[in-house]
Amino acid sequence: MTVVVIDERLEKAYQDVVRRNPAEAEFHQAVREVLESLGPVLAKRPDFADSRIIERICEPERQIIFRVVWQNDAGEVEVNRGFRVQFNSALGPYKGGLRFHPSVYLGIIKFLGFEQIFKNALTGMPIGGAKGGSDFDPKGRSDGEVMRFCQAFMTELYRHLGEYRDVPAGDIGVGAREIGYLFGQFKRIANEYESGVLTGKGLGWGGSLVRKEATGYGAVFFAREMLAVRGQELEGQTCLVSGSGNVAIYTIEKLHALGAKAIACSDSSGFVVDEDGIDVELLKQVKEVERRRVSEYATRKPKARFVPGGNIWEVPATVAFPSATQNEINGHDAKLLVKNGCIAVCEGANMPTTPDGIRVFQEAKIAYGLGKAANAGGVATSALEMQQNASRDYWSFEYTEARLQKIMSEIHRVCYETAAEYGSPGDYVLGANIAGFLKVADAMDAFGLI
Ligand code: GLU
Repeated sequence: MTVVVIDERLEKAYQDVVRRNPAEAEFHQAVREVLESLGPVLAKRPDFADSRIIERICEPERQIIFRVVWQNDAGEVEVNRGFRVQFNSALGPYKGGLRFHPSVYLGIIKFLGFEQIFKNALTGMPIGGAKGGSDFDPKGRSDGEVMRFCQAFMTELYRHLGEYRDVPAGDIGVGAREIGYLFGQFKRIANEYESGVLTGKGLGWGGSLVRKEATGYGAVFFAREMLAVRGQELEGQTCLVSGSGNVAIYTIEKLHALGAKAIACSDSSGFVVDEDGIDVELLKQVKEVERRRVSEYATRKPKARFVPGGNIWEVPATVAFPSATQNEINGHDAKLLVKNGCIAVCEGANMPTTPDGIRVFQEAKIAYGLGKAANAGGVATSALEMQQNASRDYWSFEYTEARLQKIMSEIHRVCYETAAEYGSPGDYVLGANIAGFLKVADAMDAFGLI
């Protein structure tokens, strides 16, 4: 792995993070990526070094770790660990999703929470950064088990939440079903119908139209903007979309609506290729309705093929949307994509590309939209849901989607212009990290030493 040399003060801040947060590789990676962008900022703003703003941003405001005990269908007692890292509230109440996945530990939640600070700042909405979750694996669990787990989880978490305090939403393993159980338990304990305490709610009880689609749609809007500044079009592109969850499904849906073709998607067991373009209605039926594996898609669509254990990035395509999970594209995969003619990568997932992979995209000078900019449409629409809840209003699909589209082009514009201002035109990593950082740092500065 190439190690990028950074400013001495930034290197010291990074080493401190590593020392104080041992064995949290993903968190270290997320911090390093941001710090590698901040050299030019420190050069312009020496006051940031004096006030140790970088060290302060890398330290979560509050970290909550708790025991979650529940009973499975066999009557056995299960013990999980719950997390909520309330990372930064300079711009608004803590905001960020909950992830239920067996890989969850403090380092994953911290990396996600750290990314969320800058992502949320980029949306231009008044939201701070947080993330939470559990090592609970919803896969293969009955509705009753998921409900009992969610109730047990919320029984501790509720005391830390509030529409002005902390507003969780979904992430991997947490969708409308889980949000329903979590909201129901919050309402029961708090004895208040506080709609704005969670986002991603069902449409009949305070949810927002477009929230479900927002991360995927937003990523496609971002890709379209990246291509446009290079004089290229999204229409006619052949796309790979890894994953087959909420983000992937609605990325595919919007790609097809805009005249591009998504030919492959995946899950942890392998990938599916459908040269006709993935039939998104069939994918929704398999994944959202039946909660089955992606291989099921291929058994129902004879022309599609399922490649068990395969690497989706080997499939030739012109645009890639990594929409599964962190570190799903390494240096080798990135080289394959570039070699096969990929002109743009737009991240629906959080930190899906390793530092080596990012380097490959940057050296090849392809359009690379990092997650904290490209997938910000989800949380931005959560903020729109909060707005509707606060005003007891309910917006149309068209209006909400138009708002999302405007937010995504604004994020693109800010990242693009910031990168140019700091001498690296087209470098969205630099642009997003600097623009997000400055917004949070300036607010923190205004508040005194916090
Ligand atoms: N989990 C999503 C993300 O990574 C959405 C968070 C939210 O809506 O609060 O941004």
